[in-house]
Amino acid sequence: MAVMNSHIEWTEATWNPTTGCTKVSEGCRHCYAETMAKRLKAMGQPRYQNGFKLTLHEDLVDLPLKWKKPRKVFVNSMSDLFHKDVPTDFIVRVFATMNAASQHTFQVLTKRPERVAEIAHLLNWTDNIWMGTSVEDMRVAGRVEHLRRVPAVVRFLSCEPLLGSLADLNLEGIHWVIVGGESGPGARPMDAKWARELRDKCLERGIAYFFKQWGGVQKHRTGRLLDDRTWDEIPSTLSTYA
Ligand code: SF4
Repeated sequence: MAVMNSHIEWTEATWNPTTGCTKVSEGCRHCYAETMAKRLKAMGQPRYQNGFKLTLHEDLVDLPLKWKKPRKVFVNSMSDLFHKDVPTDFIVRVFATMNAASQHTFQVLTKRPERVAEIAHLLNWTDNIWMGTSVEDMRVAGRVEHLRRVPAVVRFLSCEPLLGSLADLNLEGIHWVIVGGESGPGARPMDAKWARELRDKCLERGIAYFFKQWGGVQKHRTGRLLDDRTWDEIPSTLSTYA
C-alpha cells in the first residue's frame, strides 16, 4: 500500500513493497502495523489478504519512480524490509529503485540492523537513503552497534515507544534521534526524564533531535511540546554527514 500525505510527523509519504512482520522485542508489543493489517484484511483490502504475514508486493517495487515530486519517503511503515523472510535479492531491488529515484529521500527503519550490516556490501548506499533502527530501551542497545557499521549518509534512531532510560546509549556515528511515547490502548508511559536525557545528549553532540509526541491513550491531548517548545530537527545538509 502506498500512502501519500502520511500522518507520521517526520516523513511525507510511505511505501510498502512488503507488508507483514513478526515481533522481535518489547517495542513490538503494541505494533501499529499489526493492528492496521488485521483491520485492512477484515475490510477486504487485497494487499492484506495475508493479514500480518510477511508478504512481498512485486508490483510495488518500482512505485516511487512514478512520483515526480520530491518527497521524504518512509519505507515499510507496515513491515520490516530486513525481516528474514524477505529474500536478499528483493532487498537489492528495493535499493535499486531508491538509487534510481534520486528525487526522493528514503527513510528506512528496521528492528533487524544485524541483517543490514551483514548484507550492506551488496547494497548501493546513495546519499538519498537514510538508515535507521529502533531502540526502545537498553536491552536492544546492541542494534546501534550494527547500524554504525552501515555506510548510510544519515544513520538515525527511532526511540519510539521509548520504554526506558537511554542515558548510557553510545550515540557515536548517529546523525538523528527521534523520540516518542507509545500511543493507543494500553500505552506504556514515557518518563519525561528519558526524553530530556536523549535531547541533552543530542544537543551536546550536535545530533538532530526530533520529539514526535508524548503519546498516551489519547495522544491528541498530550501534544508534542517538550519543555515548552517543539523539537523538529531533521538532518538537512547531506554533505555534512558524508
Ligand atoms: S518490527 Fe516493526 S513492524 Fe515488525 S512487529 Fe515489530 S513493530 Fe511491528
